[in-house]
Amino acid sequence: MNIGVLALQGAFIEHERILTKLGAVCTEVRQPSDLHGLDGIVLPGGESTVQGQLLQKSGLLAPLRELVTDGLPTLATCAGLILLAQKIRDSSVTHLGTLPVTVKRNAYGRQLSSFVTLESVRGIGSYPMIFIRAPYVERTARNVEVLAEVNGNIVAVKYGNQIGLSFHPELSENLKIHEWFLSLCAKREKYF
Ligand code: GLN
Repeated sequence: MNIGVLALQGAFIEHERILTKLGAVCTEVRQPSDLHGLDGIVLPGGESTVQGQLLQKSGLLAPLRELVTDGLPTLATCAGLILLAQKIRDSSVTHLGTLPVTVKRNAYGRQLSSFVTLESVRGIGSYPMIFIRAPYVERTARNVEVLAEVNGNIVAVKYGNQIGLSFHPELSENLKIHEWFLSLCAKREKYF
């Protein structure tokens, strides 16, 4: 399976390491021609403002949005979730805007900017969640599936083939989320 990993900025190598371990071939995505023939794509954590600007500059924004909307399986973590969100709280900016949720950036404030917690993810079970200056999901459209909450805040969602996580599965030794994502890519479920 050929999995694209958006490689403009942020923690993309860590995703590649896990996906390769699980037998996938990774394509680093930096320009529109890299999007050809992908079975899925990962949008890594990092800095969403910078990534959003680079998506524009590289010409990736429109073709990537089209692929995600057409049902290309997408695993978006942290800044990646912000890229997918239809609305960013207190901001008029949106990037891909394909996931009908409102996210709050840096939602845990300064005191609790980074932390680890073991919580349950629907369909996966107990999972060590690593949060780094993370967003959470404040609102979802009705047909967005909530997969996990921490302290009453939504930290994992699924909508069609888009998975959005506040935390960083690529920094954990638990491979279950990437395994599950690859199974979605293999099935390439149809949107709706
Ligand atoms: N705080 C970052 C942002 O708003 C996200 C942090 C992360 O990806 N670890 O873009």
